[in-house]
Amino acid sequence: MGSRVTGTAAEKTASKYLSAQLKDLGLNPTIQNFTYTRKNTTYQSQNVIATKKGKSSKELIIGAHYDSVSVGKGADDNGSSIGVVLETLQALSKKKTPYTLKIIFFGSEEAGLQGSKYYVSQMTDAEKKNTVAMINLDSLIAGDNMYVYGDQGKQGKLRDLALEIAKKHKIPMSTNPGLNPDYPAGTTGDWSDHAPFKAVGIPYAYFEATNWEIGDLDGYTQTVKHGEIWHTENDNLTFLEKEFPGRVKEHLRGFTIVLTELIEKADKAF
Ligand SMILES: [Zn+2]
Repeated sequence: MGSRVTGTAAEKTASKYLSAQLKDLGLNPTIQNFTYTRKNTTYQSQNVIATKKGKSSKELIIGAHYDSVSVGKGADDNGSSIGVVLETLQALSKKKTPYTLKIIFFGSEEAGLQGSKYYVSQMTDAEKKNTVAMINLDSLIAGDNMYVYGDQGKQGKLRDLALEIAKKHKIPMSTNPGLNPDYPAGTTGDWSDHAPFKAVGIPYAYFEATNWEIGDLDGYTQTVKHGEIWHTENDNLTFLEKEFPGRVKEHLRGFTIVLTELIEKADKAF
């Protein structure tokens, strides 16, 4: 599809593709339109939302942004997560999950988390109370290591459950080791779509591939071999397959297995 720049017609085209994919999965997607203003220009964007009923009416939000920056093709950031979420929904299509799933493909993350901020701004207090957690996925196939993060303390149980599931399947997934005091072990920064949910007290789990042991130890330098991939020309599948043979497939598989089982067992974390 190529780049899907925030607030453009290409982003809108991607939203239509996602609606069609969700319909093929038997879901009934809706579009949540919103606008935001930057440097005196107002942009139109949209979230694509679907609900999949579970055993409980309590909701688990699964979210990933589908917009990209203009440089590169947004394969890692964040086509990778869109693929994992769609594949997971396929795996769960005939199953009843413990919680009702709210699937949200966010627009305009790259312009300052606009889609997720708007979604949270429209949630009622009752909806917030009815949400058990938010699972965010962002940039899964380029980084050296597979990670899952969560809140500090008791609210981080969903992360711990994800790590247990990964271990059982011998998938090499870990969490932020906490080498940088600004980002304590197990947690991460407020730079993706989990942040607006976290800000209103909703527990989160967040899947990402990067490398916390290099660069400024802030999770920004994704790879030893090529530094950061996101927001560069290198964020395209041809480059990733050539420079990191096997990684794309291994990560897509690993994250999909863990996410699928995490959703199926999520009630064990609460
Ligand atoms: Zn991203």
